[in-house]
Amino acid sequence: MSSYDVIVVGAGPAGVSAAKAAALADAKTLLLEKCPTIMANKPCGEATSQTTFKTAGVEPKPSIVLNRAYARVYAPNMKFVEIKDVGFLINKSLFLQEIAAQAAEAGADIHVREEVLSVWRDGDIMRVKTNRSEYSAKVVIGADGYNSTVARCLGINERSEPIPTVQYVMVNCKLECTDVVRFFLGNDIAPGGYAWIFPKSEKIAEVGIGVRGAPAKLYLDKFVKMFEKELGNAKIIDYRGAPVPIGGMIKEYIVDGGILIGDSAGMVIPLTGAGIHSSIAAGLAAGEVVAKACHEGDTSRKRLSEFNEKYEPWIMRINKSLKVMRALEKMTDEELNLLQTLLDATDILDLANGLNIKRVAMKLLSHPIFAIKLAKALL
Ligand SMILES: Cc1cc2nc3c(=O)[nH]c(=O)nc-3n(C[C@H](O)[C@H](O)[C@H](O)COP(=O)(O)OP(=O)(O)OC[C@H]3O[C@@H](n4cnc5c(N)ncnc54)[C@H](O)[C@@H]3O)c2cc1C
Repeated sequence: MSSYDVIVVGAGPAGVSAAKAAALADAKTLLLEKCPTIMANKPCGEATSQTTFKTAGVEPKPSIVLNRAYARVYAPNMKFVEIKDVGFLINKSLFLQEIAAQAAEAGADIHVREEVLSVWRDGDIMRVKTNRSEYSAKVVIGADGYNSTVARCLGINERSEPIPTVQYVMVNCKLECTDVVRFFLGNDIAPGGYAWIFPKSEKIAEVGIGVRGAPAKLYLDKFVKMFEKELGNAKIIDYRGAPVPIGGMIKEYIVDGGILIGDSAGMVIPLTGAGIHSSIAAGLAAGEVVAKACHEGDTSRKRLSEFNEKYEPWIMRINKSLKVMRALEKMTDEELNLLQTLLDATDILDLANGLNIKRVAMKLLSHPIFAIKLAKALL
């Protein structure tokens, strides 16, 4: 049986980053991925910020950054707020492969087409059984997504509240704006969530929706029909769905000899459903802490909890964004329309990303409707 310091399960953004950080910190590391290829195996809008590349330590090369775009957030009446910050539309597969290459360069072993079937604690070590072999490790990092096998095996049963999403990749689009990612809010368009159009190129777009308490595909088809001019002749070349954990972080994601990161632990910004950056940050923090714990010979839950200190800025952002989401989900379309007239781009960025929400709350505190409905909830 091969033994490692660290076994990372799952090679999404969280897993490749954890493997890289653990290997860089001189831990003997194995990254296991059940799919035949390290790539964006799960559907994803593949939109992210420029700072994600800085965090990941990846050069924003043209082969990975397919398009650059600013953002528009549309109220139900189709009036919008424009956010001039430019973000990236990426080839997530190549992005993940770049981080995996850095992990390999740092010394990590990588096995694809190897599914982890069970994980258990045996005295002071962890055992990992896959479809091909059995391993031992000092620590297992579960980065295996929302339906985490590692979580189940470690007895972690809590799941962050999911929003079901469906996304089409559409070709032969006639997009009105190829340098804008568009987000559409409203209870008629996407109850409990939002719909999006992300331009990958002039003719290719990712068109998706997340809704709660309603059939996502039905709403997505209705949404596509609203854009007859732009999407009327477009064809769907990819149609997939997956849950996004938007209910915030689960309470217990660290146990003796094990830690969950990324979607498996609800490390997603709730209001936007964005999880690439937060998962990479979690992977880097976890890999570093776990490697240190292995070197010190203490892989207890208490020792691994240093992760929380390293991840604190993200924990705050996730919690604040959740607070905003809970307040906004109670709004009627009329209230959302009114809010669009009161908020500027900075306000929206702060609210969506769980940044300076107190500032926005203070701005709304004197408003006859939003003082009670929003500002007080945010404070
Ligand atoms: C439709 C949709 C659109 C999205 N759009 C965006 C966006 O535009 N921007 C953004 O920032 N976020 C977006 N997200 C969220 C983002 O994709 C995730 O938050 C992020 O990918 C989570 O990374 P992760 O590494 O935790 O998990 P995942 O990306 O889910 O990766 C988990 C990996 O583990 C592997 N695995 C699972 N089980 C096992 C096992 N037993 N053994 C071995 N391997 C296993 C899987 O094959 C997979 O490769 C979107 C999500 C969805 C569903």
